[in-house]
Amino acid sequence: MNRVLGDSANAYDEVKVMVGWFRGLCEKAFKRALWVFHANTGACNGCDIEVINVLTPYYDAERFGIRLVGSPRHADVIIITGPITRQSGPALERLIEAVPSPKLIIAVGSCPTGGNIWFDSYATHGGLAKFLSDRGIDIPVFYVPGCPPRPEAILYGVALALGLVDKKVAPKRLKQELLPPRKSS
Ligand code: SF4
Repeated sequence: MNRVLGDSANAYDEVKVMVGWFRGLCEKAFKRALWVFHANTGACNGCDIEVINVLTPYYDAERFGIRLVGSPRHADVIIITGPITRQSGPALERLIEAVPSPKLIIAVGSCPTGGNIWFDSYATHGGLAKFLSDRGIDIPVFYVPGCPPRPEAILYGVALALGLVDKKVAPKRLKQELLPPRKSS
């Protein structure tokens, strides 16, 4: 269930359904804590620094029960940064397999959200949604866009999904047009 929000009038309702679904999953499967495994799939390190920031005592994500673990086999959630480079793709597939079900992915940054400026590069898969759908992998994914998103935005996204805060804005989907093919001289 790879959730990509449309720009329809129902997009806000779509988010409400997603958030409700995620809350239900958390209550059922992750009653006390969310154990997360962090994977860099070609990120520039900007998003990784913000993810680590969230886990420092200053932002203290552990107060919400969010803990970083060293093995995907112990994790409930995979945090992914980066546009999924061709080199990291096979490792990401193995990583997703290694996490026990039920599992979900939180994609942090514009790179996994839509590929960012590498969305059509030969060297990347152009974002997580495309990578998963090309392989028929059906896992819930939640996106925290930004380049990089601030630690507050990452925390807000997780807290929103956990039902600790309310959503204040409706989603908006932006699409970058492909460049026209070059004319040969
Ligand atoms: S979204 Fe921006 S900061 Fe994050 S990995 Fe991509 S380029 Fe770096």
